Amino acid sequence: MQSPPIIEVAIPVPLHKSFDYLCDKNVAIGVRVKVSFGRKKVVGIVLSHKEKSDFSNLKSVEEVLDDEPLLSKDILDFLFWSANYYHHPIGEVLTSAIPKNLRLGKPAEIKKARAFDHQISAADFDTTAEQNKCIETILASKDSFSGYLLHGVTGSGKTEVYLRITEALLKQGKQVLVLVPEIGLTPQMIARFEDRIGGKVVAIHSQLNETQKTDAYLMAKNGEATVVLGTRSAIFAPMPNLGLVIVDEEHDGSFKQQSSFRYSARDLSFMRAKLANVPLILGTATPSLETLKNVMDKKLTRLVLSTRPGETVMPEVSLIDMRSQNSEALSLPLINKMKQHLNSGNQVMLFINRRGYAPVFYCTECDWKAECNHCDAQLIYHRHINRLKCHHCGAEQMPESSCPSCKQSTLKILGYGTERLEENLESYFPGTTVIRIDRDTTRRKKAFAQHLERINSGEACIIVGTQMLAKGHDFSQLAFVGILDVDVGLLSLDFRATENLAQLLIQVSGRAGRSEHKGEVAIQTRYPNHPIFEYVQQANYTKYASSLLKERQQTQLPPFSHQAMICANAKNKTQAETFLNEVALLLRSIDLPSVEIWGPVPGVIEKKADYYYFNLYLQSAERQALHQMLNTMYEHIDSIKISGSVRWFLDVDPIE
Ligand code: ADP
Ligand code: ZN
Ligand code: ZN
Repeated sequence: MQSPPIIEVAIPVPLHKSFDYLCDKNVAIGVRVKVSFGRKKVVGIVLSHKEKSDFSNLKSVEEVLDDEPLLSKDILDFLFWSANYYHHPIGEVLTSAIPKNLRLGKPAEIKKARAFDHQISAADFDTTAEQNKCIETILASKDSFSGYLLHGVTGSGKTEVYLRITEALLKQGKQVLVLVPEIGLTPQMIARFEDRIGGKVVAIHSQLNETQKTDAYLMAKNGEATVVLGTRSAIFAPMPNLGLVIVDEEHDGSFKQQSSFRYSARDLSFMRAKLANVPLILGTATPSLETLKNVMDKKLTRLVLSTRPGETVMPEVSLIDMRSQNSEALSLPLINKMKQHLNSGNQVMLFINRRGYAPVFYCTECDWKAECNHCDAQLIYHRHINRLKCHHCGAEQMPESSCPSCKQSTLKILGYGTERLEENLESYFPGTTVIRIDRDTTRRKKAFAQHLERINSGEACIIVGTQMLAKGHDFSQLAFVGILDVDVGLLSLDFRATENLAQLLIQVSGRAGRSEHKGEVAIQTRYPNHPIFEYVQQANYTKYASSLLKERQQTQLPPFSHQAMICANAKNKTQAETFLNEVALLLRSIDLPSVEIWGPVPGVIEKKADYYYFNLYLQSAERQALHQMLNTMYEHIDSIKISGSVRWFLDVDPIE
């Protein structure tokens, strides 16, 4: 008697394997099936057909959910590659790549067909010679994989290049995938694409409701969506006619997911474009060192936009030496500059990378500081709620009225965050509108968009914000940017800190003077002689980046080597550390001398939300050796007994 056919199914569980089921229906690969797993019913994806299984007593599939595969072969190949590269369980990778409704087994049907009836307007300018060269070069290679770094100074017309290439590709029935670093940037980018491109521009990001997410996914999949624009997870959008992948602001850290499946959408974009055999554009004014290394290695071709089109010129950057200023947040020269610009009807922006009212609540007598009971971190004072808050675990408490240590009433706040700055500004500039943009003022769904709308109305105002402001926004009335409190970035031990600071300073400066005004930027610092400022003042990111690249080469740090991090955490400190010591033993027993192993070392913040964090680092100049070691580790890791409640994860190419 012939036994019923067997199918291999990927199931959303944190296990590095797939599962076999019996299925007497004819199901295609990539179809969703409902199966029982343990005592639960789960939705899985069919991976292959099998003749026989290593297991007996196979269960039968409960229900076949799709007539047509939900995941086509090209997307499955891409997801397999990704799971393999990040050593992440295939079931979790597949399901994290599809919207929740589909993950739960709901029908793959578009619920609300959207009307796309916006007016298209043509650009009222010609592209520059530099833009033309970029457009022509990229279009000339449209039928094969080739990677480009579009390195254009802020405001140089990179988006215009994306638009023109997209226009040309849509005429040939292609689809274009555009990744942006942050949800806040999608409305602006979508508006620009909708305004110019005749086609269906579909957004994919976390603030959509579940129906919208599913519909967007299905419209990408059936080819109806011509442009798919989204944050990092959009890299997994199915697009049968994919003709181009664009990653805008490629240097931005938010392309890396920092939980569960820790992928970098920027890094994965190479394989996505390669598998689809289409060009890839990484656009930025401040390329990551990884990307510059890829240019050196000829994996990317660098195309340059060296100037802003038309009359606009790059802003002038000056330094304010805070050693000779009072200890207030805003120095006198800064206030004067602000006054001058506000009086001429311009907008002014202040950038400070800290939200809340004040970062330190302390005792002037005994030096006691308010610290989180659950984390190794100081509590931040938030005035409007009169609470001390931990920005790591979210814990909140009322501020004490007398010092818990010496019992005196000598408690004070120290330092500035966006909230306190906003209050100060109201006293320095009475009657001037102050718009604050940080995570606290943009929590409501449409809040960010509303703030942006007010700014774009053009009234003279002061904008205060955190790094949310640094990303790609185009404020045409903004003439002056003041940057506060950059010194932490200069003193940090993280080897990427100066790279990130240089990117931030150039990006923030780039917000100034985007239309007819000549922009001005002032940076307050106690280290005006740090080399970084010389390059920022010359707007010469490339030169600074090459000096950083030389350093990285000498020290053999990424991108001249490859890293992986194994992070373990537990409520019991010893258990977390012991586990990693045993992993380190296992790794050292694997004979791969080109891989260095260091640690375990305590995390930068050792205790977070009552858990102790330890890291073990692997580094090698040879990517292959590193991955081989990780594969061998996974083969044997089960032999390490996990005591108590140790949780652990692997982060390939970590950036933190
Ligand atoms: P980026 O993406 O590099 O920051 P954008 O594409 O947003 O730059 O361009 C900045 C501004 O310059 C936009 O308002 C855009 O419409 C305008 N622009 C782009 N290219 C040209 C051009 N060739 N001539 C005139 N204006 C242009
Ligand atoms: Zn905390
Ligand atoms: Zn005290």
